[in-house]
Amino acid sequence: MSADRPLRDLAVPAVQKIAPYVPGKPIEELEREYGVANIVKLASNENPLGPGPLAVEAIENAAREIGLYPDGNGFELKQALARRHGCDLTCITLGNGSNDVLALLAQAYLTADTEAVYSEYSFAVYPIVVQATGAVSRVAPALSDTAKMPLGHDLDAMRQLVGAKTRLVFVANPNNPTGTWVDTQPLRDFIASIPQTSLVILDEAYIEYATDALFPDSSKWLREFPNLVVTRTFSKAFGLAGARVGFALSNPDVADMLNRVRQPFNVSSLALSAACAALRDTQHLEKSVAMNRQGLDQLAHGFDAMGIRRYPSAGNFVLIDCAQPAAPLYEALLRAGIIVRPVANYGLPNHLRITIGTREQNERLLAALAGHYSSAAKSGP
Ligand code: PMP
Repeated sequence: MSADRPLRDLAVPAVQKIAPYVPGKPIEELEREYGVANIVKLASNENPLGPGPLAVEAIENAAREIGLYPDGNGFELKQALARRHGCDLTCITLGNGSNDVLALLAQAYLTADTEAVYSEYSFAVYPIVVQATGAVSRVAPALSDTAKMPLGHDLDAMRQLVGAKTRLVFVANPNNPTGTWVDTQPLRDFIASIPQTSLVILDEAYIEYATDALFPDSSKWLREFPNLVVTRTFSKAFGLAGARVGFALSNPDVADMLNRVRQPFNVSSLALSAACAALRDTQHLEKSVAMNRQGLDQLAHGFDAMGIRRYPSAGNFVLIDCAQPAAPLYEALLRAGIIVRPVANYGLPNHLRITIGTREQNERLLAALAGHYSSAAKSGP
């Protein structure tokens, strides 16, 4: 035990080694620290339109009942999800965001003598939830930076790391922070190749944005692959990031295990009501997805005009390569009141991840970037 940090040393050793999750900078923090106003946050892949009117109305109505515990089984939401995905209620696990579901999977399936597999440059929460259990992370090298899907998942490399000790395999599709994706056939072949001793977790937080016909509706595969778990969220295209609600679709036996470790009331009544309403509000979803598509085109055009390299994206964000350390550019954008996401913690110190905003927000970003990117580029690396 070290004399200077005795309380730290009391914690489980694996937990002591976790590198904490770094969220996007909150608007209030930037206001406080830099004294800037009229801030645009393009740092956390939130929906720039926010929640739809039906969800807001549902939250207002639910607020009157806030003195009561929520329905711990989330019956109404599960019923709506079961209808939508053509599955039984017993296949669904609700979470406090899909992040919660990822943690439940780790809690239920990992121990210090097991392993989890995921790709380099995939979602930062995977190492955290794995490490918290003491299990070993096996990280597959990503596809090269010059591949058709640069820095994307290399499914063959991932498959090679799956062994007898592997209990969980995480596949983010589309992936955060790269925005890259894997196509239907290779994904199906990959899932089919994974032995029944490992669960494949297909993290589809951004799936609603992936409008390309090549994208599978993987929830239809659940019967075929009993070891498949699909996770989804209301935080992105449904515009409910602050409500915290997500879910897993899986074999009922897996859902049974997850529901054993789930906190009895892990999803608030406000979140349950909002999610039910958001599922009904197809107009808001369609508007959000359409705006994202236009915003992606707008940003792509702007980046191309400035000679900034961008990565292919099927999500509501774009990764760019600044061709030099991105930290000064990030700082310059903060001073201009624009928050984007540095991704040095992902091993990408020259890159920034930028959430697609409204037309006006994208314009502001591009204008700020135009000044600072060219001056930064001129001053050299
Ligand atoms: N998976 C991926 C790939 C994500 O990017 C995120 C959020 N950044 C999540 C899961 C978790 O989101 P939430 O907990 O809000 O559902």
